[in-house]
Amino acid sequence: MSLLEIQERVAVAAIKSGRNPDAVSLIAVSKVQPNARVKSVLDQGQRIFGENKVQEAQGKWPDFRAQYSDIILHLIGPLQTNKVKPALALFDAIHTLDRPKLARKLSTEIQALGHAPQLFIQVNTGQEPQKSGVLPDDLDGFVSQCRNEFDLPIAGLMVIPPINEEPSLHFALLAKLAKRNGLAGLSMGMSSDFESAIALGATHIRVGSAIFGARQPA
Ligand SMILES: *Cc1c(COP(=O)(O)O)cnc(C)c1O
Repeated sequence: MSLLEIQERVAVAAIKSGRNPDAVSLIAVSKVQPNARVKSVLDQGQRIFGENKVQEAQGKWPDFRAQYSDIILHLIGPLQTNKVKPALALFDAIHTLDRPKLARKLSTEIQALGHAPQLFIQVNTGQEPQKSGVLPDDLDGFVSQCRNEFDLPIAGLMVIPPINEEPSLHFALLAKLAKRNGLAGLSMGMSSDFESAIALGATHIRVGSAIFGARQPA
């Protein structure tokens, strides 16, 4: 599917639910995609991209940034504390804040740097043992810890729903948790479910294969 078709589907979904299409940021998830495909999407005008590994992003985005202006990069994969510095140097937003140790490290490095990326807390709404993210019951405490103890500006919440469950239940829960904590940002919805995420209030959707085509197996 072309970028234009995805943009149209985003706009239709937003308008259907009485929302302004501009209130939904389309993050083109370029992880693992060949540079030629990424370049083609850049040439179609897309400027917001998502990557899930710091090292992989370091390998391609400095060059693209030298060729294209106004690129905005979102980290959507897990972040190790020893990668916080390079992550802050590269990314404009981080969607995967999920533990106090990481919050502490981000806080220290952000203070040294003098500016903060947009920060989302990942929530494990499905309570899956293998998945990262704060459990719903621990979220309110973690949000206040980030704000009060670590002085981190939190923009919103992020979720990756369990594969075999109805995603809209998880989107609705995320929206409820965000509202309760006074958070405006909702990072939810991927290629297969971004329309229902938009209906439930997504402000950031993360769409990979629908834009770029299938990822090559690693
Ligand atoms: C890969 C990835 C996506 C994009 O998935 P698609 O199904 O290709 O749209 C979205 N969010 C996260 C966290 C991802 O790792």
